[in-house]
Amino acid sequence: MHSDLTRFSAADARAALDAGEFSAVDLTRAHLARIDAVDGDVHAFLHVMGDVALAQAEAADVRIASGEVLPLTGIPIALKDILVTIDAPTTAASKILEGYVSPYDGTVVARLREQGAVFLGKTNTDEFAMGSSTENSAFGPTHNPWNFSRAPGGSSGGSAASVAAREAVIALGSDTGGSIRQPAGFCGVVGLKPTYGRVSRFGLIAFASSLDQIGPFSRTVQDAAIMLNAIAGHDPRDSTSVPDIAPDFRAGFRTDLTGVRVGIAREYTVAGMEPGVTNAVAAAAKQLEDLGAELVDISLPHTEYALATYYITAPAEASANLARFDGVKYGLRIDGATLQDTYRATRGQGFGAEVKRRIMLGTYALSSGYYDAYYVKAQKVRTLIKQDFEEAFKQVDVIAGPTSPTVAFGLGSRMDDPYQMYLADIFTIPANMAGTPGVALPCGFSEGLPVSLQLLGKAFDEQTLLGIAHAYEQAAGWHKHTAEI
Ligand code: GLN
Repeated sequence: MHSDLTRFSAADARAALDAGEFSAVDLTRAHLARIDAVDGDVHAFLHVMGDVALAQAEAADVRIASGEVLPLTGIPIALKDILVTIDAPTTAASKILEGYVSPYDGTVVARLREQGAVFLGKTNTDEFAMGSSTENSAFGPTHNPWNFSRAPGGSSGGSAASVAAREAVIALGSDTGGSIRQPAGFCGVVGLKPTYGRVSRFGLIAFASSLDQIGPFSRTVQDAAIMLNAIAGHDPRDSTSVPDIAPDFRAGFRTDLTGVRVGIAREYTVAGMEPGVTNAVAAAAKQLEDLGAELVDISLPHTEYALATYYITAPAEASANLARFDGVKYGLRIDGATLQDTYRATRGQGFGAEVKRRIMLGTYALSSGYYDAYYVKAQKVRTLIKQDFEEAFKQVDVIAGPTSPTVAFGLGSRMDDPYQMYLADIFTIPANMAGTPGVALPCGFSEGLPVSLQLLGKAFDEQTLLGIAHAYEQAAGWHKHTAEI
């Protein structure tokens, strides 16, 4: 019997479960006990699904005994509280959805249930995934497991922290402008944003529908690939999910990078970058070279417009998507004298400040007379950003750079300055605008906090991307460092 069951990757836990070293119930109990012990400090979870998890673990043990296992059978997983589930509340960390329980499961949730995975609970996020620090949650912030006074990143900060604090083996999040990669980076775990269209968005509460994508947080690149295998693929209920059959995302795993061309974009060095980040990422690039890769200088000339384009596109789509929260169909309702008053009171009290800011910006950008000047123009610039990547990927297999310009900043340090907060996503947003995949993975430490390497890949070529990421991870070994709390 292992002394600590919370240190396993999903792949290693699978082998141990199948060998009968411990049961899925043992593994689940260990994670629930860990949540009990540390989540008072971390606050990764908004809702712990203890009874559901134990029932799923018992069912998983029956499957394991019969040999009918899939890769995630019996593996304890955390879900960002923006993925709808029939047996737990889904709030998007908003007062407007407090206590709301969905009548159906989202597609990824349903696929994980079919695998026999174990759901530990729903994790904290910025309200409706709008933010970069998880401080916009209506239910209080999550604390970074490496240093409780630091932000875990966001918006999927609860999911990132749950894996870093060993409360979950894998977690799911969503990435609209960096919300998987940036918190993965701040918390020192692996975070993968798949290609737009790779994973069904059915049952993901919509923020910006043309950008949103679901993906995993994990301890290893292999686990990210295992999770992507489980959730990827066409879904008739999401017309943007691509029809082709998803391959095995581990198929490109390699140890040697001879013949691989790694792009280093000059635009991914900006003023205000922390030297500790610059140095760790430079060392990672050198290590890729030592593994046989060739480093190639490239340019992504429209990068400087990505943030501005995003902050037109995402709020515009959000303003339309969030119109449905009106006190009639879901969650909170504050009755007024007229229907208008009910809408006003419900939305006025239900939404937090950042959500209101986005709805106002987005409504303005879509309004008659401004639509062409803002939204349409942003879509044209978006095409230019996408073309930058297409040009770059004619020369290189992946692009390497920092995930964020800084390590985890202090809780509270950017809340008064939305622009500073938006800058945290300067390197992650371009891939959302282009629809292309990206993975963040640990590449060192600066002042005791994790630094993250971002690798960006070609659309629908997660295999190559993960193959290169796996080679780096195994050679570098940074994934073996864990936050000891
Ligand atoms: N931080 C970005 C925002 O606030 C991205 C969020 C996300 O990817 N969901 O919009």
